[in-house]
Amino acid sequence: MGTLYDMQHRLELRDIPGKGQGVFSARDFKAGDTISVGVIKKILSKNERNATQIGEKKFVLLAGLMSRINHSCDPNCGIKPNLLGAYDLIALKNGKRDEEVTFDYALQNYVIDYFTEKCACGTAICREDITGWRDLPLERRKEYADFVAPYLIEMDRRKTERPVENE
Ligand SMILES: [Zn+2]
Repeated sequence: MGTLYDMQHRLELRDIPGKGQGVFSARDFKAGDTISVGVIKKILSKNERNATQIGEKKFVLLAGLMSRINHSCDPNCGIKPNLLGAYDLIALKNGKRDEEVTFDYALQNYVIDYFTEKCACGTAICREDITGWRDLPLERRKEYADFVAPYLIEMDRRKTERPVENE
């Protein structure tokens, strides 16, 4: 396992000209490193902006900067469930100090309810619409493999077993 970074001291919220704000790493990191430990601040009764989905109908607000991390269609981080019932942010690739930390919102949301605007990630494989796991191409799902919320895999499995079931 990689280095465990302190959320408060290793990540910084910074302005991005023309794009609002983003969360940046204050140090170099390597693929496999835990960039941030997710801690639940509040359990919500429904989905809302900045919410993190941790189950089919479970939404929470995470502490610190975790809820402020921008989406990218080609992110440098994925997520893994932790013992606190939230997700840790895990680096998918090596990164440099001052690099923006991103993950794909499809890794924690089956469908995306709160992003009607077009994606601004600017990567070569941008999907334009910020879609959820349900709408992610199969090859992309395979690439993310171990870095998605387990309940998404579980929902897929149930749909495959009972394809006529309602959403
Ligand atoms: Zn994009």
